[in-house]
Amino acid sequence: MRIASWSWGGRLHVGTVSPSGSELTPIAVPDATRGALALIESLARGEAMPSAAGARLPIESVELRAPLPRPLRNVWCVGRNYHAHAAELADSVFRASPPVEQGWPIVFTKVPECVVGPHDEVRLPGAAISAQIDYESELAVVIGRGGRDIAKARAMDHVFGYTIVNDVTARDVQVRHQQWDLGKSFDTFCPMGPWIVTADELDALDTRVRGWVNGELRQDARTKDMIFDIPTLIETCSRGITLYPGDVIATGTPSGVGMGFSPPRWLAAGDVVRIEIDGIGAIENTFR
Ligand code: MG
Repeated sequence: MRIASWSWGGRLHVGTVSPSGSELTPIAVPDATRGALALIESLARGEAMPSAAGARLPIESVELRAPLPRPLRNVWCVGRNYHAHAAELADSVFRASPPVEQGWPIVFTKVPECVVGPHDEVRLPGAAISAQIDYESELAVVIGRGGRDIAKARAMDHVFGYTIVNDVTARDVQVRHQQWDLGKSFDTFCPMGPWIVTADELDALDTRVRGWVNGELRQDARTKDMIFDIPTLIETCSRGITLYPGDVIATGTPSGVGMGFSPPRWLAAGDVVRIEIDGIGAIENTFR
């Protein structure tokens, strides 16, 4: 099942996507302004899947929104989680950091207000604030059943589904403040979508993640190349911290980010970043 959120007739709606991807069927959720969040919470309480609440619509007739337009709280994010990406940054300002392979995942967060839709514009913050804007194509895990101290062996039982995020980053700001949250949380810096694919429909442990800038393929990897796999990330984020239904964990980006080039290739106004993950779909955002 694929759960989407869209605006139509001046209101937000939540519903399912047809197998062909061409049609949407609205479902009755208590508060559609929260996107899929209310649905995920009600399913976590053991309630039944709500029934259809309207006629099918052609997908071209609506504007898709992020499936979680404003997540419950900060988006969990994992840094340097693919071997090749860790290597491409080994000669960057991160060279002094210990190799992640020898320790624990790097975990930071983005504020929930920076989430935008799968085709929305991303706003460059202006050269006075940052001149080093970068893209990061990522698979994101959406938690279905909450919990604390979730063991790796049971972690996949807590997954509701998967979506795509672009973990847009201001590299200069990220580095300047040592903690990454500021450089990761500018308004519009988390495009998400195009929908959530439920966990039963995707083998997220081995799927393909690709990212393009202006049609040029920059990132291409399989999720099995993660340094810390999804069960490990859920175990890590829930150590002593309760995870809630609807929490999002962005699992890190493959190699091929702008910072990894010599010289670096930062994003500029007019650039279009497309991210596609096999089994989910694609998001495409223009930078302004
Ligand atoms: Mg990232």
